[in-house]
Amino acid sequence: MEENNCCGDAQNTISGCSCSCGFLEYPDQSEVPEPETPSTTASREFLSRLEDYARSLGIASMGYASITPEVILAGDFKYKNAVVLTLKMDDELIGTPPREEAQAMNDRLYDELADLTFRVSDYLRENGYGAVAIHPMSGLLDLTSLAQNAGIGFKGTNGLLIGPETGPAQKVSAVLTSISNLPQKASEHSWIPEYCARCGKCIKACPEDALVEVDTCCGSTVLLLEDRCLGCSEGCTYCIESCPFYSKGYETVRSKFMKLRQKLEERGKL
Ligand code: SF4
Ligand code: SF4
Repeated sequence: MEENNCCGDAQNTISGCSCSCGFLEYPDQSEVPEPETPSTTASREFLSRLEDYARSLGIASMGYASITPEVILAGDFKYKNAVVLTLKMDDELIGTPPREEAQAMNDRLYDELADLTFRVSDYLRENGYGAVAIHPMSGLLDLTSLAQNAGIGFKGTNGLLIGPETGPAQKVSAVLTSISNLPQKASEHSWIPEYCARCGKCIKACPEDALVEVDTCCGSTVLLLEDRCLGCSEGCTYCIESCPFYSKGYETVRSKFMKLRQKLEERGKL
């Protein structure tokens, strides 16, 4: 039987992108060379030190995921496992209207995360592991999906990763590594699309109508029209500012949603 693929992820992207996100050519900022024979296994104790180091740099959350075909956008990669990193966007950036100032702040945040990503990559190399830093704007990997696979959060209707540490307000990068025994954890955030389906605030808040609801064979879905989005070209953050995960915080939203779900279940409406 032929498979019907009309329904994909809750969030899809239509590109033809003029939003300046991704596909950036970036310099190699590594200060430590790749080890000649990289180690492939890491102890829990080393991974704990790695996480402490990343947090000491200012990394908000960290997880581990495999490089599967679904997350590869361009290129070949010699390492098939990744350390995924996020860096929080500050309230000042989110409160600044789109244009030059917001764009400059947004660019600085990408530069900062790129720098931290190379520092984490160097730390791995110093300890005998192969490591390749992936810039947050490289366009080589679908970093949001990679972070979702790492259990850091889940993709919301606004197309952004939503997680406990930073809500929808973060940038994502990765370090590919020779370590093959990274502990990958199951996601605890897969309820988020169900919450999004009842919310839709980001769709209403978008000044460019870049988030568009469309009907599919199995319900409606939301597309991000990248050629309309000002996120990376003008530092637009309205879809973050409007999101309850930003204004109220992840735990508050989760707690209210779980109570609502329980009530609906008790009334037989789920
Ligand atoms: S609110 Fe701004 S950043 Fe979000 S989708 Fe719309 S244009 Fe893009
Ligand atoms: S504003 Fe609402 S629909 Fe949009 S990502 Fe946030 S929770 Fe989901």
